[in-house]
Amino acid sequence: MSATAAQHPPFGSVFADVMAIAWYRDGQWGPSSVVPLAPIPLHPAAHVLHYASECFEGFKAYRWADDRIHLFRMDRHLARFRQSAESLVLPVPEARFVGDMVTALIERCHAVVPEAPGALYLRPALIGTTANIGAAAAPSTEACLMVLASPVWDYFSGGAKPLKIWVEEHATRCASHLGCTKTGGNYAAALGPTMAARRAHQVDQVLFCPGGDVQETGAANFLLIREGHILTRHLDRSFLHGVTRDSLLTMAGDLGYRVEERAFSVDEMVQWVKTGEAALSGTAAVLAGVGSLQRAGETITVGDGQVGVHTQRLRSALVEIQQGRAPDRHGWLQTV
Ligand SMILES: *Cc1c(COP(=O)(O)O)cnc(C)c1O
Repeated sequence: MSATAAQHPPFGSVFADVMAIAWYRDGQWGPSSVVPLAPIPLHPAAHVLHYASECFEGFKAYRWADDRIHLFRMDRHLARFRQSAESLVLPVPEARFVGDMVTALIERCHAVVPEAPGALYLRPALIGTTANIGAAAAPSTEACLMVLASPVWDYFSGGAKPLKIWVEEHATRCASHLGCTKTGGNYAAALGPTMAARRAHQVDQVLFCPGGDVQETGAANFLLIREGHILTRHLDRSFLHGVTRDSLLTMAGDLGYRVEERAFSVDEMVQWVKTGEAALSGTAAVLAGVGSLQRAGETITVGDGQVGVHTQRLRSALVEIQQGRAPDRHGWLQTV
């Protein structure tokens, strides 16, 4: 690890000393406020603790060279947050309401937003708080919405290491109707298979491909990349529609790549990576290169086993837009 990597705490382990919070009761949202970061009062029978009524979002704000703070595609993240809430039958807050909580929070913790390549990671979370363990088959009528702010540093400060991925052809990541819902329950569901694969095959992540159909990993979308061509799954209900995925595909089109969105099999993926690249996309790492795929009885090296040149090129191009070093042609950034 480099000296910088040793100095910076791991992703998500440090928080601003303030948070934004609002409570839903009697059919409406109360006022939101920015308060000191502290434990929240929660009844031990709270719906979320027993029946997992929870969803969240994750996006970043960047400090540009001129010191102003810019949010990346918050509108998309808030639209997805509302969809997640709706699919879990939680009270759905207006995007404007959550957006105002985010900006009020950033104004209060402006000073802790790291300089590039760091960022402020914003984590809205919505939980069902009704104290009723009899409500197993009923929605929570009360809820709490909070927004946490976490300064994060370069994900790859220790050097971009190619990932080892287990190709899981049996287990599913989540219930089939919750593929597009960003909920803690899906992470809990993916954890068992992921830990089992880590133990058995010493991999970093698991790519869920039930019945040979390539979907995504526990927390990132999956892309196949080569000279002038990107292949990734089309938007169906099986996986979380990443904002990073969408941004990369849009940008790749601008850069002259042919973007193909369709279902593909494990066999097709194995053929592709003989000469092509594979990568994982998500807000935290942006785009992380895959070095090898492990499958029952077989290790498949992706390209030359290193992070591919197109993966690096696409990642840098998106990071430059986020950090204000390249023009924002698609109106993705919003000044706080
Ligand atoms: C959050 C998430 C992603 C990545 O989405 P981004 O909007 O790109 O950050 C991908 N898959 C899953 C399962 C996720 O929860």
